[in-house]
Amino acid sequence: MIQRTLSTVRPILIDVVFQKGLALGSTLAAGSALFSRPAAAETSAVPSDGGVKTGSGPFAARAYGTANPKVGLALMPIERRPLGPKDVFLDILFCGVCHSDIHTARGEWPGTLYPSVPGHEIVGRVVAVGNQVTKFRVGDIGGVGCMVDSCGVCPQCLAGREQSCINGTTYTYNSPDRAFRGPTLGGYSDKVIVMESFVIRIPPGADLAATAPLLCAGVTTFSPMHHWKLESGQRVGIIGMGGLGHVAVKLAVARKAVNAD
Ligand SMILES: [Zn+2]
Ligand SMILES: [Zn+2]
Repeated sequence: MIQRTLSTVRPILIDVVFQKGLALGSTLAAGSALFSRPAAAETSAVPSDGGVKTGSGPFAARAYGTANPKVGLALMPIERRPLGPKDVFLDILFCGVCHSDIHTARGEWPGTLYPSVPGHEIVGRVVAVGNQVTKFRVGDIGGVGCMVDSCGVCPQCLAGREQSCINGTTYTYNSPDRAFRGPTLGGYSDKVIVMESFVIRIPPGADLAATAPLLCAGVTTFSPMHHWKLESGQRVGIIGMGGLGHVAVKLAVARKAVNAD
């Protein structure tokens, strides 16, 4: 069952937002698709009162993924790992669709591990936390971008550059999972378990659908502007108006820069 709530989509929003429990079927109107939660009550094995204890699991989850590069995304059962002491268990509410997802699912880049479940712009509600988690409580909203783990001990990790981990960053999907069997599986799913250090807090009141694309397209384009200290009145060139490009325009405008094409 698919419903679209186009009225909530900003005209400039080019990223597609995928919401839990729904198919990526039919036509995705470029620039303006938002899938809504089904009206029927969600069934979940995870209690919403934080009843999941550290060490329990693994947990059954639903996902949209591909079994091989020749087929489209389809509903498939997956498992999420047992809840570790530093893990946050998210009931996924929204997941942006990044073009990397499509390339990976279709095997257009070398090295796709199948089954492949894409999705690395994840926003979810915390339904359980491990007993050593300090940053989140049940009911908080958390976001997960393109990384979910790293070695934690190499010079890059210790410098806060986990994306350059010498021993290999663990990406949100299509990476060997350090904590569980098989490759990591992404956010086109109803649940995910991620170490708290790779989950960011989403402030109360945030537009959660609009927040999701910030977790890849947003940070990717924010980073160079921040690094080069883009300021009011400066000019910035943005090549392409896709998922990243349109966010870059918004960020540049927010910094009162002048967009040059
Ligand atoms: Zn991405
Ligand atoms: Zn490392």
